[in-house]
Amino acid sequence: MLTVAQALAQARAIGVDRLDAQLILSHVLGQARSWVLAHDDAVLDKLRAKAVRAALTRRAIGEPLAYLLGEKEFYGLLLHVDTNVLVPRPDTEVLVDWALELLADMQAARVVDLGTGSGAIALAVKHGCPAATVFATDISRAALDVARANALRLALTVTFAPGSWWAALASQRFDLVLSNPPYIAGGDPHLAALQHEPALALTPGGDGLDALREIVGGAALHTAPGAWLLLEHGYDQAKAVQALLREHGFEGVRTRRDLAGQPRCTGAHR
Ligand code: GLN
Repeated sequence: MLTVAQALAQARAIGVDRLDAQLILSHVLGQARSWVLAHDDAVLDKLRAKAVRAALTRRAIGEPLAYLLGEKEFYGLLLHVDTNVLVPRPDTEVLVDWALELLADMQAARVVDLGTGSGAIALAVKHGCPAATVFATDISRAALDVARANALRLALTVTFAPGSWWAALASQRFDLVLSNPPYIAGGDPHLAALQHEPALALTPGGDGLDALREIVGGAALHTAPGAWLLLEHGYDQAKAVQALLREHGFEGVRTRRDLAGQPRCTGAHR
């Protein structure tokens, strides 16, 4: 037998955060978190007890809560996520803010999100600026399936294309290019803590800049005059990304900080 109170006590014993445990119970039981808080004595049936124990164990060994719940909120949208996609991070909302500011001054803009994963950036931009025509690419077909399903569920029209960076887009040109590519260096010790997420989405190996180089390097062929390029990058990569953009003839290079105050997004225009 397992009651709600016992499940919460077990969670504490194995080091699972109390809020995470409440959210796992709420998810498995199909009840609001407020219900969980008010029903200490509720008894879980066998199947649900097993599901709760399994989820708590997975959380205890570091699996992201978003995978256990199957969802993550991003820019006010509830996105379904699974282990084929990076869990959308609040820091990436800075990139969306910036994109929507630029779109406010553009007309009939064509936008692309390179390496869309769950579709987070593309869908948030389409939601915030319905007049934009939004494309999204990913080399992972499994990720594109997740993104497509999110678009359908949210009733947002985004055109998805499979392929690596620009290769997915033939000769199309865009007014605004957005990307949160893999940027963690191959030997970065932080990768160990991110082992539950797809390595493809986290690191291109080497110094972590290869994907950013490929995106900036191909941008001239795929952007319209005056187009903007906004890129998320590692906390210590702003200078490198700024230099890369200038080398490729971009102007007005600037960097914005994330919620933790780290330089996180660099953008420029042609
Ligand atoms: N911002 C993520 C992290 O450091 C990495 C995402 C990425 O590589 N694009 O956890």
